[in-house]
Amino acid sequence: MVSEDEARMQFVLALRARGVTDRAVLQAMEDTPRAVFLEGIFKARAYEDVPLPIGSGQTISQPSIVGLMTQALQVGRRDKVLEVGTGSGYQAAILSPLARRVYTTERHRGLARQAERVLRDLDRTNVTVIATDGAFGLPEQAPFDRIIVTAAAEDPPSSLLAQLKVGGIMVLPVGQSDTVQTLLKVVKTEDGLDYHSLAEVRFVPLVEGMAED
Ligand code: SAH
Repeated sequence: MVSEDEARMQFVLALRARGVTDRAVLQAMEDTPRAVFLEGIFKARAYEDVPLPIGSGQTISQPSIVGLMTQALQVGRRDKVLEVGTGSGYQAAILSPLARRVYTTERHRGLARQAERVLRDLDRTNVTVIATDGAFGLPEQAPFDRIIVTAAAEDPPSSLLAQLKVGGIMVLPVGQSDTVQTLLKVVKTEDGLDYHSLAEVRFVPLVEGMAED
């Protein structure tokens, strides 16, 4: 058995090897115990660079993808950030020390409640979890400096693009749910939108409407 410290060190080295080099992002990931976002037998696998089940048929993302998405988002200390797809709350917890305020939306009420509890226990008090359909953004808190979507839509949702400030950045996977998707970075400028593809990824689909549970 490797010790907790050693496992954590290897975790950070693996993130670096996969291209997560931003120091603030690596620090946030080192300071955020992924095990508390997992249940039962999956807790023991928290430091593996794989997605894992979190209930309601959803998954916690692969840590290196969380790292690459967070890095691409270039979050500033004064930024107001929207996440669509709270899931376990892990991605929101990583954003918390980097941003001023994080709003995160989840269509499964049970997941939203659980994530809220874990984030509170970790003292990530600048994160607000909202159980709502996030496919149309969060108009009451718009506009946002940064938007991250952790479920795949076929195209970047136009209401999310509309809720992004000029100078803002949105990172999201696009493509059909049963195929390889593209991780996109969208930068909103005075003149329009610039698109950059970052990687091939696989995410659960962005689904409209609240879930039954
Ligand atoms: N960011 C998460 C991983 C999320 S998996 C983490 O760190 O654990 C994607 C999540 O998006 C799922 O929990 C799914 O229920 C949610 N989701 C899908 N469509 C949604 C929508 N329209 N609004 C809000 N959440 C949505």
